[in-house]
Amino acid sequence: MALPIHDIAGEIASALRESNRLILQAPTGSGKSTQVPQIVLDAGLAGTGEVVVLQPRRLPARMLAARVASERNGKLGDEVGYQIRFDRVCSDRTRIRFVTEGLLLRQMLGDPRLDGVSVLVFDEFHERHLYTDLTLARALDMQKRLRPDLKIIVMSATLEAGSLETYLAPCRSLSSAGRTFPVTHEYLDKPVDTDRYAVWQLAADELTRLLPKHPEGDVLIFMPGGYEIDRTIGALRAALRESEWIVLPLHGELPPAAQDAAVNRYDGKRKVVVSTNVAETSLTIDGVRIVIDSGLARIARFDPHRGINTLLVEKIARSSADQRAGRAGRTAPGHCLRLWTEKEHGQRAVAELPEIRRIDLSEAALSLKAGGIGSLRDFAWFEAPDPRALERAESLLHDLGAFDAAGELTSVGRKMAHFPMHPRYARMLLEAGEIGCVRPIALIAALTQGRPILLRDVDKKADTLRDDLLGTEGESDFFLQMRAWRYAEKSGFSMDKCRSLGIHAQAARQVSPILDHFLKAAKGQKLPIEETPAASEAIRKCLLLGFSDHLACRLDGGTLRCDIVHKRRGTLVRDSVVRDAPLFVAGEVREVDSRNTRSGKDVEVLLSQATAVEEEWLRELFPEDFSTKAEVIFDESLKRVVQKTRTLFRDLVLRESGEETPDEGAAAALLAQRVLGGQMPLHGWDDAVEQWIIRLNRLREWMPDLQLPALTPDDRQAIIEQLCLGATSYREIKDRPVWPAVKEWLSHEQQRWLDQYAPERIELKTSKGERKAKITYAADPLTSPVLAARIQDLYEVRGDIRIASGRVPVTIHILAPNQRPIQVTSSLENFWKESYPKIKVELSRKYPKHEWR
Ligand code: ADP
Ligand code: MG
Repeated sequence: MALPIHDIAGEIASALRESNRLILQAPTGSGKSTQVPQIVLDAGLAGTGEVVVLQPRRLPARMLAARVASERNGKLGDEVGYQIRFDRVCSDRTRIRFVTEGLLLRQMLGDPRLDGVSVLVFDEFHERHLYTDLTLARALDMQKRLRPDLKIIVMSATLEAGSLETYLAPCRSLSSAGRTFPVTHEYLDKPVDTDRYAVWQLAADELTRLLPKHPEGDVLIFMPGGYEIDRTIGALRAALRESEWIVLPLHGELPPAAQDAAVNRYDGKRKVVVSTNVAETSLTIDGVRIVIDSGLARIARFDPHRGINTLLVEKIARSSADQRAGRAGRTAPGHCLRLWTEKEHGQRAVAELPEIRRIDLSEAALSLKAGGIGSLRDFAWFEAPDPRALERAESLLHDLGAFDAAGELTSVGRKMAHFPMHPRYARMLLEAGEIGCVRPIALIAALTQGRPILLRDVDKKADTLRDDLLGTEGESDFFLQMRAWRYAEKSGFSMDKCRSLGIHAQAARQVSPILDHFLKAAKGQKLPIEETPAASEAIRKCLLLGFSDHLACRLDGGTLRCDIVHKRRGTLVRDSVVRDAPLFVAGEVREVDSRNTRSGKDVEVLLSQATAVEEEWLRELFPEDFSTKAEVIFDESLKRVVQKTRTLFRDLVLRESGEETPDEGAAAALLAQRVLGGQMPLHGWDDAVEQWIIRLNRLREWMPDLQLPALTPDDRQAIIEQLCLGATSYREIKDRPVWPAVKEWLSHEQQRWLDQYAPERIELKTSKGERKAKITYAADPLTSPVLAARIQDLYEVRGDIRIASGRVPVTIHILAPNQRPIQVTSSLENFWKESYPKIKVELSRKYPKHEWR
């Protein structure tokens, strides 16, 4: 059967002969995933090597391989194979291999040349999974440095306007139109409250309503996850006649045979496939003419409260909804029903942010480092992450012990990189493997991933029943949840049994596959996963390792306020069981707007999911983060300098001793700081002292030959420290004599020079004998020293007044008898000759009692 992509098969081949980079853009269903690998192989472009096709998800990787193998009439694992986590079906004969990206990235770590691989095909680039971005960057780098012969093809169902071409330049670019039929759209008339009217029931009811108008074609229903799919199937089987319909689920957790069944065609019967996102673009389900879209998907996102990535059910963006609708028009005109209103559609995001902008990067940062990337900042990102997100990731990896202080990978980090999960859990499981509590830690990890399984604010009856059945042991809030989950599991997640204890049965059920996933991963790393009785202490130590960046220390016994590591402050939630522990780690750190709290603060930080820990464990597990520091501080209430010895975990003060007598030098330095800051003025440090310092510094410039020492701000501080020596309070220093300490700066001879060449006052001869006139010096080197004198005191002065051995003229402020300045001049000669005669008459009339020469 000819597919649109076949029209450009020749162009693809010739483009790849000319260039080893190709961008291929074609709509879903045009034949990219299944045909391009074959076109490349059959054109001989892979030589004797392999064509490796990268897929963001496991299910399509396997199913595409199966499809291509059957198109080539081969057995899966021979010419065409696949490799995904925990499942590898390929051989020496394999020429087309479908793999998940994370796996290839890991493979690149061990084999940086990827010898034997001739062509790398990146499928579904438009989905912009973080690992797609990372693996492509790594592949381009490898091609540039080590493998110039490697061919790279990037395929996308929608165009990443231009930027991809720039990124891959020089590259060739091809596109192919799809072959689509018109699809009519329909929305709900009014919003539905899915808490009351379950989305699966809604979907089933709507389908039965649509059927009379759409008597032909298969149906594809999109649901967010396995659980919702199962419920939808249940509702559909009740609504549709079995003789006419076949109803099948499709999602990643199904066994392969069930997945295959969903894409097969069934003669004589119409088919309904209820699928997750995988049918949005990755997989083709032929014959579909009706799409019913719940508008929901599980979307990975960084949850700042938990400090991890979560996968919660969210509303999809409009671009995804369009992709989904497009699945109805593949073989004939189709119809799409959206289970939301048109009004709400307009309010949805246009497109989802790429993962690199919305998820936590610590797992990626760890695997890049493990792959030998030097600097994450210089990495050739297709789209660089927010620098703050990168910083947050690095800081967390440092706290987890994966990076050292210089940001380099540690041996623990190297081991952690092998765990396909968030580094917090990698760290916890690694430790759990050592001390024999893998199962409980995997369960805790699974419990933190989704919605809380314990309902809050349950009634008295449920609360008492909870206490009776689950106990009230108080070392970790997780312990109660673990017991609740085990109880729920034993009851087969029975709604009734769970409800009586205030357990959310559905949320508890969703923990199971995640737990299995974590246990599988742990087993994959050869950790012992047998059920063994585990001590509370062992479990709590693991939690401490995974959440050491959420370590909190209670401020007092009376309130629930705490200091948190990294200079944060918060309050433990009241319903936590660890109210009595002075030290704990919080699984969740949540900022609450003050509008929601009674305290007047802007934001309140609430700590929950707490686990009590011991100070000794910190010392044992984080020897490098533990320190004891003597700190000299000025105690504002005691009004004196005291020394406190603080025990710190990173920057968090765990304990503080009482006031001790501080080291003399340190106390003096602290007092000096406050003197300099102006909080504690010294009475003796007056203008004369300041003038002395200025005189010294100016004279140093004027007469460098004297080789006087400068007195810098640092020296000033040293002098004041000297003055404060032996004191711990202001009372002791405020009246201390200042002059001796200042003058000591100069030798006797230097002091004499200072008085001689930059005198404080100079003598003026007058008819009434000698008068001393003060010279004011300015710190600013452009301002001359100034002498202010009354006119009568200057009659005997001829010429200029100069200091510094005649090198520096003094500016004279000539004052009238009322001390008001008449003139500013540096030359008296001119004054006597030019100005004085003009003003003399008036002055003498005004001040007749004074002498007027
Ligand atoms: P693309 O990657 O461009 O979305 P695919 O290569 O996945 O397209 O599929 C191209 C076409 O091949 C589909 O439109 C469909 O007609 C056919 N096809 C692919 N997989 C299957 C399958 N498992 N069963 C039947 N037809 C299939
Ligand atoms: Mg495809």
